[in-house]
Amino acid sequence: MAVYVHIPFCPSKCGYCDFNSYAMDGDIVSRTANALVQEIRRSPHTGRPAKTIFFGGGTPTFLPAEALLSILEAVREAHPPVPECEITSEANPGTVDAEKFAAMRSAGFNRLSIGVQSFDDDELRSLDRVHTADEVYRAYRAARDAGFSNVNLDLMFALPNQTVQAWVRNLESALALAPEHLSLYCLTIEPNTRFYRLFRRGLLPLPPDETQREMYERTLDLTAQHGYEPYEISNFAKPGFECLHNLCYWRAEEYVGYGPGAVERVGPRRWTHIKHPVAYCEAVERGEDLACESETLDPATVAFERLMLGLRLQEGIPSDLTPDLPDRAEPLIQNGWLELQDGRLRLTREGRHWCNRVVLELSA
Ligand code: SF4
Repeated sequence: MAVYVHIPFCPSKCGYCDFNSYAMDGDIVSRTANALVQEIRRSPHTGRPAKTIFFGGGTPTFLPAEALLSILEAVREAHPPVPECEITSEANPGTVDAEKFAAMRSAGFNRLSIGVQSFDDDELRSLDRVHTADEVYRAYRAARDAGFSNVNLDLMFALPNQTVQAWVRNLESALALAPEHLSLYCLTIEPNTRFYRLFRRGLLPLPPDETQREMYERTLDLTAQHGYEPYEISNFAKPGFECLHNLCYWRAEEYVGYGPGAVERVGPRRWTHIKHPVAYCEAVERGEDLACESETLDPATVAFERLMLGLRLQEGIPSDLTPDLPDRAEPLIQNGWLELQDGRLRLTREGRHWCNRVVLELSA
């Protein structure tokens, strides 16, 4: 199964971020790392092998290397990794150095996902990122020097005031580094963020829809020219370097989660861990239930999620996923948003711009 570990700390909170992350430091960090090890050692899924392990956040590299390694060790004991297991950590360029990357690589991490977001220092400041473009380059070099041969760079487009040319410059900077994988997301404005409050007051000058559309079109062209497969709407990989962990999510497979706010889905049950680090630690230390939300997935929900997530993938979904799918798909095939090939329905290039509409039409 896929194993996810959530590290909920960051040096500061970015203006657009609604992830379960906290700008906290001090004892709570080591306490949470210890609680994570305890939680993993008590896991009811002990013995089930890991096909992928993913440390996300938050900022996993906010933790000292020793803490990261002790958590990874606990995961490996509970979930013996399959051969070729993909073991990823997210990394923030402002929280890493050559020594930390070298320790992580020796301990078994074999993939890094570096949160770049932009190569423009003004844009980075406007996003509240703690790092500069120079630190991105340093982190990337340190990752390569440490022996990481599978590196993702995470960037966002449609930033406030961003032009198509500015986005293309960012993307070209990323492509020049030749990472194996690129995650290229359109900025979305989430409630309970600083950006949302600005947006509501009309103070966030986002690029208009047509500009965002052109940015994505240029993204498809440029990544293709450099040999990347657009295997998911926002994710592009050199052949053989697709993110195996995220493929598990998009294929609606099982995953186990550990840590504050982590979500787990095993069998029909999906549940979310207590989100705040202090409350999470207290619950682990007292041996209490760690769930703050829980649901049992019925077959209709499972089918809907397979459709919604699977359509994001270039491989698409089986055309007989639900009995009425072929009829619902027909008008979307006619208007050029979907194509049917080898028994699978896929978004066309044009359809990629309309993914949410397509999901609604197919499931309404
Ligand atoms: S570094 Fe990532 S997780 Fe942390 S606040 Fe910024 S966007 Fe959120």
